[in-house]
Amino acid sequence: MEYDVIIIGAGPGGIFSAYELMKKSPETRVAVFEEGNTLEKRKCPIDGKKVKSCIKCPTCAIMNGFGGAGAFSDGKYNITNDFGGTLYEYIGRDQSID
Ligand SMILES: Cc1cc2nc3c(=O)[nH]c(=O)nc-3n(C[C@H](O)[C@H](O)[C@H](O)COP(=O)(O)OP(=O)(O)OC[C@H]3O[C@@H](n4cnc5c(N)ncnc54)[C@H](O)[C@@H]3O)c2cc1C
Repeated sequence: MEYDVIIIGAGPGGIFSAYELMKKSPETRVAVFEEGNTLEKRKCPIDGKKVKSCIKCPTCAIMNGFGGAGAFSDGKYNITNDFGGTLYEYIGRDQSID
């Protein structure tokens, strides 16, 4: 398979680059390569009992994978309610942006 654009990393930067390219230039063949796991498989093994600290996984479930370091954002810095946490569910959309 040949691509016009290859994006390395499916963090917010990679995902939105691909999204904008698809919107503005649908004929462009874009591939996004990500070394980490899919969202569903991003589970840190630290459970506080058996695994108490970092065991240096090949790719870090917290920092790497689809969604990048922002996938499990704690949402304390909100620039939008559309992604990056669910603070708005607790205090409302307007207050969360304020
Ligand atoms: C704990 C924490 C809390 C945060 N909280 C907030 C918040 O509340 N609000 C906010 O706005 N921001 C927050 N941030 C910041 C936000 O997560 C980052 O600004 C954002 O993730 C940066 O996006 P990025 O796409 O540039 O990089 P990243 O998110 O780092 O994505 C890069 C991706 O590239 C992949 N990659 C790297 N090298 C390769 C390779 N050679 N091959 C394949 N894949 C590769 C990585 O696995 C990763 O998935 C937080 C960050 C952290 C760590």
